[in-house]
Amino acid sequence: MGETSAKEILNSVFGFSEFRSNQETVVNHLIAGGDSLVLMPTGGGKSLCYQIPAMVRSGMGIVVSPLISLMQNQVEALVENGVRAAFLNSSLDSDEAWVVKQAIRDQELDLLYVAPERLVTESFLEMVQQIKVSLIAIDEAHCVSQWGHDFRTEYLELGLLKEKFPGVPRVALTATADPPTQREIVSKLELSDAKTFSSSFDRPNISYEIVLKNSPKKQIKSFILNNFSGESGIVYCLSRKKVDDYASWLKSEGVRALPYHAGLSPAERKRNQTTFINEEGVVIVATIAFGMGIDKPDVRFVVHADLPKSVESYYQETGRAGRDGLPAKAMMTYGLKDIALMRSMITGSDSSDKRKQVEQHKLNSLLGLCETTGCRRKSLLSYFAEDYPNNCGNCDNCNSPRESWDGTLAAKMALSAIYRTGQRFGTGYLSDLLRGVESQRVKNFGHDKLKVFGVGADFSAQQWTSIFRQLVAGGYVAVDVDGYGGMSLTTKSSEILKEDKTIEFAKDLVTPRGKEKGRKSRSGPKQSKSIIAANLSAAEEGLFDDLKQCRLSLSRKMKVPPYIIFHDSTLLEMAKEQPQTHAELSKLGGVGEVKLAKYGDDFLQVILGQESSLVANE
Ligand code: ADP
Ligand code: ZN
Repeated sequence: MGETSAKEILNSVFGFSEFRSNQETVVNHLIAGGDSLVLMPTGGGKSLCYQIPAMVRSGMGIVVSPLISLMQNQVEALVENGVRAAFLNSSLDSDEAWVVKQAIRDQELDLLYVAPERLVTESFLEMVQQIKVSLIAIDEAHCVSQWGHDFRTEYLELGLLKEKFPGVPRVALTATADPPTQREIVSKLELSDAKTFSSSFDRPNISYEIVLKNSPKKQIKSFILNNFSGESGIVYCLSRKKVDDYASWLKSEGVRALPYHAGLSPAERKRNQTTFINEEGVVIVATIAFGMGIDKPDVRFVVHADLPKSVESYYQETGRAGRDGLPAKAMMTYGLKDIALMRSMITGSDSSDKRKQVEQHKLNSLLGLCETTGCRRKSLLSYFAEDYPNNCGNCDNCNSPRESWDGTLAAKMALSAIYRTGQRFGTGYLSDLLRGVESQRVKNFGHDKLKVFGVGADFSAQQWTSIFRQLVAGGYVAVDVDGYGGMSLTTKSSEILKEDKTIEFAKDLVTPRGKEKGRKSRSGPKQSKSIIAANLSAAEEGLFDDLKQCRLSLSRKMKVPPYIIFHDSTLLEMAKEQPQTHAELSKLGGVGEVKLAKYGDDFLQVILGQESSLVANE
């Protein structure tokens, strides 16, 4: 590539007109030969940070990536844009690998993706030391962290690259933010001279909503059907059984849903994943086993039908939505049972006490997020030590604020009811007792004689359920999930009973919030436009659908996922701007020279209203 500037490559190869905020500084730093650590959220645009410098500097750029599917994805997208890229990993047979090695020796590649275990082998190092290496990028660099969930032993050896490739700039990239992980990356990868570039971890295009689970299937159904007909999404469930149940139920509701969990045969898992990636409008119902290594940019929503493991997991899983920067939603349903189940999973596990403590702490942070009445984004970002000054206006609590109330007295009543009845009854019984319901059971136990009997008559049964849930979430009450849901006091209870700590509760919203919108459809049959098409006129939307159809036909013909051809954002621009010529088309984001030549005519034909020959032939 020689003299071509970074900006020119951004325009002509990738079809983008401007760098995003931090991209340009990282790119310039690398081109100048400096090492760096790049912290950027998912969808922030990390790839261009090393791809463009690799093309500007002479020689071949080496990219270390932990997963085969990630490498394939990236290489596929680069090749579509006419970039000389390839990967070397165990998915290639020996002939295919030979071709790639030949290309390396002949210095025909700008970018080579390689698995960490291969990179550190002597034969590989010997081979690449014969040629000019432009830079080394270590993607998903948090995999060196022994404390993180994606730890990969082979990453620990990557420190040797400093010595083996003196003078070659190295860049480590990750979307994992916390400072201890950053320090580990710097020390294990020998990056003490690296400059750190960190961006905000906010994902402004994702809206967050966390609702009480009252009728989960209905809530999830209306969430999907009201906002996302024909869009791709992920629904996470805790168990395999529930995955199967939800997948077949959603299918019966007309959603193109497929299951994914470790209990399925590898062939079926692969098939479902491929369908999700290669087709449009597929919803994957999955355990958390699904997602790592999936780069699909147009996942429009992520639902958590159960509580995730921690705030980190929640952020990582919801982060799979909206990588393309278009509007996306994350929704979680949760209830008392989920909390109790998570607590008992932690206490019942055979991990060390130290580990259990850490996990309890993580669960508490997550519950804090669920129960907060403040802005969810603020709360999420503060967990990652990032200050978000205002309220976001793009989460449920910002859009329909929940009131809070002084629950100190109610909490005292609840705790003493638990204590006086011997710490073995569940919410239903305790709520009857507190409200003074003279049920047979209450009488049988003689609990109608207790001082607490009837003291809480001012609250409804539903309010007591909410109070107990919030006490459990706050760790003031424990629940026996293996038995009958009996409640007992914890060490923290005394803060309320003896120390006169005041406690705030949130008022629960009675109707699921997602629902209201759908019900009040103004006139005629419900028009459920996809959230990304919300700003299009009816005619533009029709064109957008036709463009998508054209893209799908092309993608089947070329055997690449639709988004590799063009992202939704490019098709949306086409539908709005309606370019009439190649020159006009080339001005749109994501239309580089190679794609323009390859696909320009097909899309122009759709815009000009002529039957694309390709679509007609389908
Ligand atoms: P990450 O690896 O950080 O998750 P990617 O590199 O996959 O993010 O980029 C996310 C999305 O943003 C991709 O769809 C990419 O094409 C797009 N993108 C990246 N840089 C730019 C830019 N400068 N202008 C427009 N879109 C961009
Ligand atoms: Zn908010």
